[in-house]
Amino acid sequence: MGEEKKATIKKIQATGQMRKIMADYFYELDAAAKDDSQKVAWCTSVGPAELLLSLGFRVYYPENHGAMLGATRMATNCIPAANAIGYSPDICSYLTSDVGAYLRKETPLTRAYEGIEGLPRPDVLVFNTNQCRDVQDWLSWYSRELQIPIIGISTHRNIGRITDKALESIVQQMEDLIPPLEKISGNKFDIDKLRDAVALSKRCSELWKKVLETNMASPAPMSFFDATIQMGPAVVLRGSETAIQYYELLLKELDERTANGVGAVEGEKFRLYWEGMPIWGKLRDMSEFFIRFNTAVIASTYCNSWIFESFDPADPMMSMARAYTEIFIVRDEDFKEKYIEDIVHRFKLDGILFHDAKTCPANSNNRYGMPERLEKKLNIPTLTLNGDLNDLRCYSEEQAKTNIEAFIEQLETK
Ligand code: SF4
Repeated sequence: MGEEKKATIKKIQATGQMRKIMADYFYELDAAAKDDSQKVAWCTSVGPAELLLSLGFRVYYPENHGAMLGATRMATNCIPAANAIGYSPDICSYLTSDVGAYLRKETPLTRAYEGIEGLPRPDVLVFNTNQCRDVQDWLSWYSRELQIPIIGISTHRNIGRITDKALESIVQQMEDLIPPLEKISGNKFDIDKLRDAVALSKRCSELWKKVLETNMASPAPMSFFDATIQMGPAVVLRGSETAIQYYELLLKELDERTANGVGAVEGEKFRLYWEGMPIWGKLRDMSEFFIRFNTAVIASTYCNSWIFESFDPADPMMSMARAYTEIFIVRDEDFKEKYIEDIVHRFKLDGILFHDAKTCPANSNNRYGMPERLEKKLNIPTLTLNGDLNDLRCYSEEQAKTNIEAFIEQLETK
């Protein structure tokens, strides 16, 4: 096989603009944290951000910081510091790298953005356990460390059909958050402001979905590895005009690529699904490796997780409850299988890669026979890669590459 072939990652021009809006976002957060008249909320990535925005909070997402620690490979040095205070190497490595970075007084923010000296100090910590329990434990650590109030939502998990009763319980929990948030922010809850925030998030989500769906074209204009970077504004800037403008720009560029038959991978031969977390410290490496084999990884559960179909400004609370409950990670095996099946058909995929992330069972869906069931149903091969989102000690590059090469050979035979 031609591994010697030169791999060139095609640059997405809009990325320059994305770096600018992400920098503005962090500088504004930094300024807000230093200004007594502004309040900062830390929120889990699929938490009730729109509620916080409607109450005037600047919102910071620790998981985004976790991903930065992974992508810069700072995580490797930080994780042991959290292990040393009793946070196991087996639990979420976003949590351990982030807590470890705090203990070591390190953050990629100071390296990336001149003048920022640390994380924006929170006034409140807000979680939603829809994705896992680790997020609550993570923010609880900061609550104890910084003496900051923590509040949140407990969501049922592993669910198939979403019942009205389950959603009503989420709505009730969100309503219970309002009085303490009003007190901390000094602002009165205003349903119209919430409608505005939900409307902006909805538009952002629709555009992000369109961006990802450009990859239904063959060749696909953007790889999964590109998309993990491009999703930054959908994570931290949803609920803002800025994110909407960015995705309009990106969509235009990807549509142009499609119209001109330009693919992310030159000579695209195979199209794959990535199920599970990215391996943040190996994005470029992985991207180049697949390009060498004319193989495009072009659809994923992970990037789709910021598509919130149900947001509805006419019914903001209930639609937020639904949007944050119906995402993939909250659902049962049957739902997940059908979800992946649908994407395999729509994106005309040739195979599925499962990433078994050692420290994130919630996002490792290979562990209860799903790859084998999908192979049978879809008549396409699957491959499980052992690794982790941030802890590179759990990832063997040599083994992963040997397995991927063998997998691509299998696709060629097929
Ligand atoms: S879903 Fe996984 S990666 Fe995300 S916070 Fe939970 S354990 Fe960590």
